[in-house]
Amino acid sequence: MTRRAEVAANLARLRERIERACAAVDRPADDVRTIVVTKTFPASDVRLLAELGVRDVGENRHQEAVAKHQECRDLDLRWHFVGAVQSNKAAAVASYADVVHSIDRPKLVAALDKGAHAADRRVGCLVQVSLDQATGTQQGRSGADPDRVGALAELVSRAGRLDLLGVMGVAPLDGDPDKAFARLADVAAQVRARFPAATAISAGMSGDLEAALGRGATHVRVGTAVLGARGAKG
Ligand SMILES: *Cc1c(COP(=O)(O)O)cnc(C)c1O
Repeated sequence: MTRRAEVAANLARLRERIERACAAVDRPADDVRTIVVTKTFPASDVRLLAELGVRDVGENRHQEAVAKHQECRDLDLRWHFVGAVQSNKAAAVASYADVVHSIDRPKLVAALDKGAHAADRRVGCLVQVSLDQATGTQQGRSGADPDRVGALAELVSRAGRLDLLGVMGVAPLDGDPDKAFARLADVAAQVRARFPAATAISAGMSGDLEAALGRGATHVRVGTAVLGARGAKG
């Protein structure tokens, strides 16, 4: 099988999973945006995805993302940054990322806004919520504690070049994803009560997207299920 046929078949299977999960909770599957996480995979795969109709791609490391974005700048794609952003890389990330999913501290908001200004563009932002408390997990998978999310959302909303789109969460590795995504939905509702335009809930990966869609995810971030297993560094 060619790489193209393999990826096309995986995309079709993913589409079915999303449709089934949405049907189970009576919501339209068309409302779900799929971001294909292309980290560790080559720019040729990004090109293939664009040819197959994918419109949103995600990366989690600046160096890799900036190179791939450069190689693929002729393509009509929205670039999502889903990994931790180092403060000294924030301005650079703001020069190519359309959406940053990992806003977890005030310093990052200021740095991204400055970078967006310098690049004369706007950047969509999601506040990443730590879901460790929701499942009693000790090991942090990053994100802001739920009680700090409101203040971060406020900061983003006041930044001149940033658009507050909503919240993002990663379920703890050893917890119940349904519990984690239920907590995320609560936090999302609180944010939306203050900022009605912040409707996005970025949640769900290859292994837990059904649980996320059951709890209202509007964006799923899927790597493995579309592109295959990553090497050890993924
Ligand atoms: C890698 C990654 C994903 C995709 O994970 P898969 O299990 O390969 O689908 C989603 N979100 C974030 C933040 C990631 O780093």
